[in-house]
Amino acid sequence: MLNKLILRSQELLENHPINIKRKREGKDPANSIWPWSPGYKPEMKTITETYGLKNGVVISAVDLIKGIGVYAGLESIDVEGATGLYDTNYEGKAQAAIEALKKNDLVYLHIEASDEAGHEGDIDLKIKTVEYLDNLVVKTIFEEVRKWDEPVTIAILPDHPTPCRIKTHTSEPIPFIIYNPQIEADNVNIYDEESVKKGYYKVLYGDEFMNTLIGKK
Ligand SMILES: [Zn+2]
Repeated sequence: MLNKLILRSQELLENHPINIKRKREGKDPANSIWPWSPGYKPEMKTITETYGLKNGVVISAVDLIKGIGVYAGLESIDVEGATGLYDTNYEGKAQAAIEALKKNDLVYLHIEASDEAGHEGDIDLKIKTVEYLDNLVVKTIFEEVRKWDEPVTIAILPDHPTPCRIKTHTSEPIPFIIYNPQIEADNVNIYDEESVKKGYYKVLYGDEFMNTLIGKK
């Protein structure tokens, strides 16, 4: 019923006189009834403006992430077989990221699978998704870009924890890696919540992470 309501509202609103007038005046049209998570159009500087980048790309199967990416000034690239679930096309996403990196200053590659496994509370599946990510995405990209003349910085991080125990998001600090062949590594060789506490970077807040990763213009 809701799907019908949404689709029907879009048809009705598309050529509604008020919307035609609004479009003519350069205003945004009201183009859909959307009974989920209401919000407003954010006003923000794009990531490319903020950090002085030429261009950037977002690769995700999740509309929310694509939308944030578009607001951040990134081009959204669709990958065939990207599902947002455990059966996603990991190899295809890694290849798309490698191709995009050849032409862009920034590629934000998002893989949702482990979050979904966390929501299901399925620990075995979650481990599997992390192993897929490690073998089919991180390894593939790392082994390719390390051959390039221009050094590529790689950051690996979740956007939040989704512990299987409670099947929902929590807000604890998340572990991250920043790798660049030109910066000296610290002594941490394992990537997990506990190990990274002994790392070079301490807890970063808000935009400190991006400022550390890219360096504010
Ligand atoms: Zn989630």
